[in-house]
Amino acid sequence: MDKCSFCGREKKEVNLLIAGLDGHICDRCVEQAYAIVEEEFKKEDSFSLDGMKLLKPREIKAFLDQYVIGQDHAKKILSVAVYNHYKRLGQPVSDDETEIEKSNIILVGETGTGKTLLARTIAKMLHVPFTIVDATVLTEAGYVGEDIESLLTRLLQAADYNVEAAERGIVFIDEIDKIARKGDNPSITRDVSGEGVQQGLLKLLEGSIVNVPPQGGRKHPEQKMIPVNTKNILFICGGAFDGIEKKIAQRLNTKVVGYGAQKTADVIDRSNMLQYISPQDLKAFGLIPEIIGRLPMLTYLQPLDRDTLRNILTEPKNSLIKQYIKLFKLDDIELSFDEEALEFIVDKAVEFKLGARGLRSICESIMVDAMFETPSENVKNMRISLEYAKQKLDAGSVQRLKAS
Ligand code: ADP
Repeated sequence: MDKCSFCGREKKEVNLLIAGLDGHICDRCVEQAYAIVEEEFKKEDSFSLDGMKLLKPREIKAFLDQYVIGQDHAKKILSVAVYNHYKRLGQPVSDDETEIEKSNIILVGETGTGKTLLARTIAKMLHVPFTIVDATVLTEAGYVGEDIESLLTRLLQAADYNVEAAERGIVFIDEIDKIARKGDNPSITRDVSGEGVQQGLLKLLEGSIVNVPPQGGRKHPEQKMIPVNTKNILFICGGAFDGIEKKIAQRLNTKVVGYGAQKTADVIDRSNMLQYISPQDLKAFGLIPEIIGRLPMLTYLQPLDRDTLRNILTEPKNSLIKQYIKLFKLDDIELSFDEEALEFIVDKAVEFKLGARGLRSICESIMVDAMFETPSENVKNMRISLEYAKQKLDAGSVQRLKAS
């Protein structure tokens, strides 16, 4: 009678029994052994911070590659910044004068190119509390809107009010460009949503102890504040910085005068100006130099072209298409998509300038009927052909998508 040489289960008790030279191993024992191997490698390979797993930059990038398509430059910068940040956290307190500074990050790129996804993926990898806040809702104390401190309320909530965990978390501040000062010159009139908010933000980015209202919202005199030290919180800022290409071009043009100018001008790739972005351009856009100084890691995201969109649909570990297939599989339905149908979805996203976000809404429109009907029907297979996709994405739903 064949049985597993590790746990002794007989063939009929297991799903799979693999034969070796002198013995057998069952699927359960393989899984268990694999978990042990993984655990051991983790211990050896990665530098650990109180149980927090920290990969090397190259491994961080490989992890990001599983979820985010393209954007190699941003991934590289992010991997190094995160690695250094957590290495810094792990450094023993000593009288050694070299103190590694915090490496907060700023990501510049059109909306929907993966800025939030990158930040979210990093947080997932590190298993640290993570929150996304929108800079546009922040205003100076005294004006309608949320206070800067409320940004940490969300982080505390994400950490289940575990202050220590929150103090090692990641905050993604979206639309940082919206708090830019209008115009390069300091304004003499009070700029409610711009410079004041930047000043407030500075305090957080630098690392200080901030009194956080646990429930958020406007300050309440009777609300007991929780002190949170932001010294080790990693801030990742993102923004579209509409029109910054012009500032970059201006800077590049003024530079290229005199000897060798022609040569330099030739190598500038005008179709993708963002790749030349430098801190000066952020200043020209209206971020105050102090803020820029506190966001030392600057990188950009490329606009998504058609090929990238096509890859986004199927390649990431949790791609939309993989998710649908899994959803159907839970009902024992084998779902498949014809290549033409996938191309059609991408074409529509390009045509209506919906970007990667549009892929989801288009897929939902196509899939909703099938998701509604098939669980109650006795279907084993479901194939999404070009005709089916076209038929479901009728004029009405396209109008809705465009409006949203
Ligand atoms: P942003 O923060 O730049 O506005 P998001 O990160 O929120 O954009 O992206 C919106 C959605 O588009 C994400 O949920 C993701 O599914 C998809 N997406 C965008 N860019 C990429 C990419 N490079 N790789 C994979 N998916 C992407």
